[in-house]
Amino acid sequence: MPDRTATHPSEPFADVKARVAAAVEAASTEIIDLSHRIHANPEPAFEERQASTWVAEALRARDFEVQHPAGSLDTAIRAVYRGRRVDDGPRIGILAEYDALPGLGHGCGHNTMAASGFGAAIALAAVADALPGEIVFLGTPAEERGSGKQIMINDGLFAGLDAALLYHPCDRSHVEARALASEDAEVVFTGLQAHAASDPWKGRNALDALILLFSSVGLWRQQLRPSARVHGIIREGGTAANIIPDRTAAWFMIRSEDEAEYRQMRERFRQLCDAAALATETTVELRFSGLARTMRNNPVLVERFRANMAVYGISDEGDDPYAGSTDMANVSWVCPTIHPDLAIAPEGTPGHSILFRDAAATPQADETTLLAATLVAQTAVDLFLEPELVEAAWRAFREA
Ligand SMILES: [Zn+2]
Ligand SMILES: [Zn+2]
Repeated sequence: MPDRTATHPSEPFADVKARVAAAVEAASTEIIDLSHRIHANPEPAFEERQASTWVAEALRARDFEVQHPAGSLDTAIRAVYRGRRVDDGPRIGILAEYDALPGLGHGCGHNTMAASGFGAAIALAAVADALPGEIVFLGTPAEERGSGKQIMINDGLFAGLDAALLYHPCDRSHVEARALASEDAEVVFTGLQAHAASDPWKGRNALDALILLFSSVGLWRQQLRPSARVHGIIREGGTAANIIPDRTAAWFMIRSEDEAEYRQMRERFRQLCDAAALATETTVELRFSGLARTMRNNPVLVERFRANMAVYGISDEGDDPYAGSTDMANVSWVCPTIHPDLAIAPEGTPGHSILFRDAAATPQADETTLLAATLVAQTAVDLFLEPELVEAAWRAFREA
């Protein structure tokens, strides 16, 4: 790890950036304590009550104007801190995620994001006398399922933002992120119960339908492009071996790097569900939700984040060809956005795993959390103090 506290920040505005770094250092105990508390108390998508309350309280204690809940989500936060000359300054969004994975805990390390987002916001507030404009902290629930950021966009909580910045933990460090278009597909087959031995011919088997769907998906994969993904789990598979199941349920996700291809896959998946129902004389309900889009990395913000990162001795390892999905991509269609990833674990540590979960509360993760807070805040300083940079970011956004 680089020596975060001894490094001289990148020009321009190195003096303000040094104050930001000092503010993160001064609050480091509070930032890391927040990360560890959220790590020890994992809450899945839309249920992040404790995490969002801790974050909201900490921001209130730092004189942010806090809305919590914000918009239609109980666990969303919008908190504002105004610098000098509000009217002509930009509005820079600092985002934080805090949802965990069901049955796994913080296997995506979002506890470090919540803490670093908080750290970046309060570090900017500490230098607000030097900043025109408005610091907007957005606590964004439900990244792992449901695309909470899209709900917040629909609720108007991103209105007027000139940029959206966050950091995500990873096993490598890279500034640009790929993200596949993705959606959740909830499938329910309904059949008819019967005794599985004495009169099975009277039943209609909803589990047969679900097994057929999994088989169809498995065969379908051969005809899909390498970047496409379709994967699922069985939520309900019946209740007893001696009852013909009348209800089964599955949760699938469908993904592609190309939005047009994604829409075709969605229709094809619907046909596979209908075919499985037809073959088993069951009925099917299919519900899509939580669309995540493809990511538009803003090149102007990418370059500035990379420069801020370089002086701390962290080089950009280049984006990962094997992408997941994120609702931050939806934000990237609304305003200039970046989604830099910084390593908290040895390279090769799989995401969404016990290994990654355990890595998210180690000294390395803590140090990365503080560095991420520093780098996100320093990139925000660039935007606050250089109006041409905001203009250039918007120009690149429109040209993309
Ligand atoms: Zn994540
Ligand atoms: Zn994740």
